[in-house]
Amino acid sequence: MAVIQVRNLVKQFNAQKFGVKDVSFDVKDGEFLALVGPSGCGKTTTLRLLAGLEPVSSGEIRFGDRLVNEIRPRDRNVAMVFQDYAVFPHLTVFENIAYGLRARGGFTRYEIDQRVTNAAKMFRIEPLLKRKPRQLSGGERQRVALARAVARDAEVYLFDEPLSNLDAQLRHQAREDIMLLHEKKPKPTVYVTHDQSEAMALGDRIAVMRSGKLEQIGTGTELYSQPNSLFVAFFIGAPSINLFDGKLVADGTDIYVECAPFKALLSRQMIPKVSAHVGKTVKVGVRPEDMHAPKQAPFAVTDDNTIHGVLNEIEPSASGCVAYLTSAQGEQDYVATFRIRLPASYLGKDIPLGINMEKIHLFDAETERSLLYG
Ligand code: ATP
Repeated sequence: MAVIQVRNLVKQFNAQKFGVKDVSFDVKDGEFLALVGPSGCGKTTTLRLLAGLEPVSSGEIRFGDRLVNEIRPRDRNVAMVFQDYAVFPHLTVFENIAYGLRARGGFTRYEIDQRVTNAAKMFRIEPLLKRKPRQLSGGERQRVALARAVARDAEVYLFDEPLSNLDAQLRHQAREDIMLLHEKKPKPTVYVTHDQSEAMALGDRIAVMRSGKLEQIGTGTELYSQPNSLFVAFFIGAPSINLFDGKLVADGTDIYVECAPFKALLSRQMIPKVSAHVGKTVKVGVRPEDMHAPKQAPFAVTDDNTIHGVLNEIEPSASGCVAYLTSAQGEQDYVATFRIRLPASYLGKDIPLGINMEKIHLFDAETERSLLYG
């Protein structure tokens, strides 16, 4: 059974301004949902509505069977970790961690002591319990906020960009700490971030928001390989998907996609989905790993599905390299990933790239919806 249920959630701040417009989703027990999207799309507003820090304009929020719309934040039994950690500067680390327990009441001194010590051990801050937050580093302060969240038996965990104030190295460690917290307390969790790679790394599922609405929700793999819109295709994945302006043209029962740099036959499976769009303009999406040097390609490469690019930059990566190219006509940039490292001597050279036509994406140029994945 879903533990968080959000139905037709709306938050209107004033006559012109909506924070969230008709958002619905579920978070299952033990599930980690990453809420991702560009600045201003409504992520934090959604989280604040879940926590009860803002009243909803309409719609329903349920935790289990309980409709929580009218329930005060402290009675919703939610643990929330903020971007700025929200630790109290005048309290010691111990008292900061104990804060939620004391506020809820019903715990003996011994229980509080045990819970605080266990949470502090888990996040390696036991030696710091007597310090005040000003005597801590950013990473340590963030771990105090995590320990405070874990010390409580909250029904729901909410995170609002908790890593954005940390440098890259600490962020990596803190991600592991958050996974540890979720492992120990596998409760329904909503995690807000604008960083798609963080969402991909942490989320069991990812919800992509845009302009106050939910664009698509699914596993990272689903969003990456079956995006339902140009927006999701572009937002998920680094390096980003390559896009070409194209047109669908029919030749007998065959349908081709025609772009400036190539004209290639669509696969049979795509035909029923695109036949109503013949003659229309489309955006063609090709993921960097679906463009292959002909000798490496796990599919047939012909002149039709080959484009040419002049190699501008080679970026080594763990699994090979990322190559940045400009089309031979000089009008468009491409990104391709290679499973081998290209030698620097290839820079400035014209490289042929075969496109895996089974893996391309097609979007209606006007609505920007996917023709292949509805
Ligand atoms: P960011 O990643 O920049 O934090 P976000 O996706 O979390 O952005 P929200 O903070 O939820 O976005 O804001 C959604 C929209 O609602 C924005 O346009 C914002 O300006 C607006 N908004 C948020 N809070 C208020 C408020 N109290 N009054 C009026 N408008 C608000």
